[in-house]
Amino acid sequence: MAERFDLLVRGGLLIDGTGAPARPGDLGIRGGRIAAAGTVQGTADRVLDAGGAVVAPGFVDIHTHYDAQVFWDRMLTISPWHGVTSVVMGNCGFGVAPTRPAHRDLVLRTLESVEGMSLEALRAGIGAEWPFESFAEFLAAVERRGTAINAGALVGHTPVRLYVMGEEATEREATDEEIGQMRGLVRDALRAGALGFATSKSPTHVGWAGRPVPSRVASWHEIETLAGCLGEAAGGVMQATIGPGLFLDQFAAIQERTHRPVSWTALLGGMLGPDGHRAVLEQSAALQARGVLPQVSCRPLMVEFQLKAPFPLESMSVMKPVSQADLAGRRRLYADPEFRRALRERIDEGRIGAPFRDITITEHPPDPSVAERRLGDVAAERGVHPVDLALDLSLAADLETRFRMPILNTDPAIVAELLAHPATMIGLSDAGAHASQLCDACAPTELLGTWVRERGVLSLEEAVRRLTTQPAEVFGIADRGRLAPGLAADVTVFDPATVGCSPLRRVRDFPAGADRLVSDAHGIRAVVVNGVMIREDGRDAVDPEGPLPGRVLRGGRAA
Ligand SMILES: [Zn+2]
Repeated sequence: MAERFDLLVRGGLLIDGTGAPARPGDLGIRGGRIAAAGTVQGTADRVLDAGGAVVAPGFVDIHTHYDAQVFWDRMLTISPWHGVTSVVMGNCGFGVAPTRPAHRDLVLRTLESVEGMSLEALRAGIGAEWPFESFAEFLAAVERRGTAINAGALVGHTPVRLYVMGEEATEREATDEEIGQMRGLVRDALRAGALGFATSKSPTHVGWAGRPVPSRVASWHEIETLAGCLGEAAGGVMQATIGPGLFLDQFAAIQERTHRPVSWTALLGGMLGPDGHRAVLEQSAALQARGVLPQVSCRPLMVEFQLKAPFPLESMSVMKPVSQADLAGRRRLYADPEFRRALRERIDEGRIGAPFRDITITEHPPDPSVAERRLGDVAAERGVHPVDLALDLSLAADLETRFRMPILNTDPAIVAELLAHPATMIGLSDAGAHASQLCDACAPTELLGTWVRERGVLSLEEAVRRLTTQPAEVFGIADRGRLAPGLAADVTVFDPATVGCSPLRRVRDFPAGADRLVSDAHGIRAVVVNGVMIREDGRDAVDPEGPLPGRVLRGGRAA
């Protein structure tokens, strides 16, 4: 008798996530699990024709910031558009639990800067009465609401520190007693199902009132002690964003103490000078076997700015008079032919030339048709120099025109080296963060389109491994990340000839009418979570208000 399945994915190219060669085959799914893979005979309630498409495990995005968004967007857009079926929240030590009611506003004001969302959007999105205080209650609240894709969370150093120290968390080192209390909270969170502990020392992480986020003020002793909870629990991963006093030596020490993996953020091209990544790769190769791995990204790191405060350009000496001028003086300089000539020359001869042409005009109120277009393209169309175009647009908009400029990870040769190195892992999509300024949640489709198909930097099998088995293993996500009978049926079906992502576009679909940037996917035929098809041919296949198949991954597992 022919076997009966809920869903049969027929006639695709199976790539199982382990790096093994692709092979033609079918996938039979029953009861939310993979029941058969290979040549599968049988019937099903639903047959999906995967002819010409790759059938892969659903992608795992280990670096997201959906901690707030999960309370108003059960689909966790836009991750599933790009084939993602499991996400990890709480990265960089942010997150929203544990939080005392009295500290809710401080947490939101921290997210306001680091997530790039308006305070009104966050307030309207989570509501005045939060459905949780402890980390365990947070996971339960996420579970009660339901999500389209699976979600796990790291416990964040910042909320833990704020919980114990209040506003002083941004001002001073903790006492031993306070560290003891924090340790109790981290232990509780791990027991409740946190995937690990996350922190940040990055000088770019600025919270309420321009103060450092709480984790940045912690002593090494505090970080080491809290990370030590992973060793006691004999489980979980440490995620850390590097900064002064927190880099490879410290990660090696934490790994030695805990015997747990450390996934750090991020190794980007150009970060430590033109060849700086090489030394870090060499050191990482030595630490790889111990599980200390840098996260790398296939997209350039962008910053958004306006010419009224042109900080990404101010390292050039030609910009010195601008730095010293007030706003009126800046306008005068931007209109001055002599200043323009000097800036054009500097841009044309220097290393900054290519990134400058790659600037995206993100917002230009007098002429929205140029929004989200490349500066170099619009300049070529109009037959002007990109410098003159940027200055003319800005002067016509009272210096309110917004630009997005790639500052790191811009050299494709270096990015290729980072992506292909065995001691790295893909991370830093920052999905859910920087919502109004950036969007890298599309990294999986960009990896498959640009770095596999167009540039041939990774084989399809290796790219899929890096999006599935590797992150699932490092983050302790059991039962997922591979196509094998018995495992959860998280599956992404994509067309290798067309998979990719679109340039960003701005939408206003967040609470209180707030805006964000999104990228559309191409070539993602179907996304299946725990056996349920949630996306098909670029559209939602489930009702976002109805029952959804995503599960909370406590300790890496669905209950
Ligand atoms: Zn982050």
